[in-house]
Amino acid sequence: MTDQIKVPLANRAHALLGSSSAHRWLNCTPSARLEETIPEVISEYAEEGGLAHEIAELKLRKQFIEPMGPRIFSSNLKKLQNRKLYDAEMLIHTETYLDYVSSIVHGFNAPPYIAIEKKLDYGTYAPEGFGTGDCIIIGGNTLHVIDFKYGKGVPVSAEENPQMKLYALGAYTAYSILYPIETIKMAIVQPRKDTVSEYEISINDLLAWGESIKPIAQKAFNGEGEFVPGDHCRFCHAKSLCRARSEFHTALEDCHMMKPPLISNDEVGEILVRAQNLAGWVKDLEEYALSECLKGVEIPNWKAVEGRSKRQFTDQDEAFKVLIANDIKKAMLYTREPLTLAATEKLLGKARFRELLAEYVNTPPGKPTLAPISDKREAIKQIDPAEIFKNENGGIENE
Ligand code: SF4
Repeated sequence: MTDQIKVPLANRAHALLGSSSAHRWLNCTPSARLEETIPEVISEYAEEGGLAHEIAELKLRKQFIEPMGPRIFSSNLKKLQNRKLYDAEMLIHTETYLDYVSSIVHGFNAPPYIAIEKKLDYGTYAPEGFGTGDCIIIGGNTLHVIDFKYGKGVPVSAEENPQMKLYALGAYTAYSILYPIETIKMAIVQPRKDTVSEYEISINDLLAWGESIKPIAQKAFNGEGEFVPGDHCRFCHAKSLCRARSEFHTALEDCHMMKPPLISNDEVGEILVRAQNLAGWVKDLEEYALSECLKGVEIPNWKAVEGRSKRQFTDQDEAFKVLIANDIKKAMLYTREPLTLAATEKLLGKARFRELLAEYVNTPPGKPTLAPISDKREAIKQIDPAEIFKNENGGIENE
């Protein structure tokens, strides 16, 4: 059985309590209403991701929902390939996603139910809440919720991921009458980070979580509660001008009030927590101020100027031909550099790379580095600090 409802990505509507912003409004309840007051700017990354999703959707539809001949498929694909942000890499990464979905579908004894780009209504748990699930598969008593992420920044974990849980609640609400769903398996496929993150939860635990967020979601819907800055500010539309975020970072200045003259380890920990997202916040402010200056709006003490420009050849091949014709040796004009390990693996593919080069690869222990307490790696018990700082300074690694 398959689902024919299609919500083209370009036309996806947004709920106030959207699933993709759930991490934000669950942590900072007034953020959803504040974001409403700020015009949304669609970044090129988001548009690129949207196009990759459309290619993925076309492939999945062809494979599982609307078998189409090669001519129709090629013509549909061609239209997407003609878009400005199209990159051939999208064909490879959407194939990885298709392979993953296929592996789930073929793992069932009987053909499962499949829905693609399905609008999922979780309004029972968060007022007027809905989102669009990339792929839903139901077979036996298991509901699969699969999300395709095209970003290559931070790997996104499916574990306790509120976006995935909201999709799952929406899917359960829609299908529990038809299917005896007991287990939810969630997966985030992020091919450009070479990761698939999976997480399993029982329906009882999912429903209990849904109940637990109801009062928080109601607060968020009403625009009530405290502004709480944190990692979740990163994609907030208000991130540049939000006063709570600004005060959180500028509160660093209060540190000079601390007594006695030497700060304690507790204070060191507190300052580092506050400073963690400082660079990102300043960058957001710079981007905002530049866009205002370019619109002709005055930002006191700042102006937009032309950035430094680098000289470049208008035609490097022709320029080098001139040099070679003037007795400059070709070997002097080109350098040969070996591929990095990662590039070599990409060239060969993981399996071939392992087969040919496994014995030449070793992963030495990483240099000690400072990480937030929430980091999943085990803490190094004890080491002589002189060893750490003997040759170079350690650094702080963000999550
Ligand atoms: S920037 Fe951060 S603190 Fe401010 S509204 Fe957005 S999520 Fe909340």
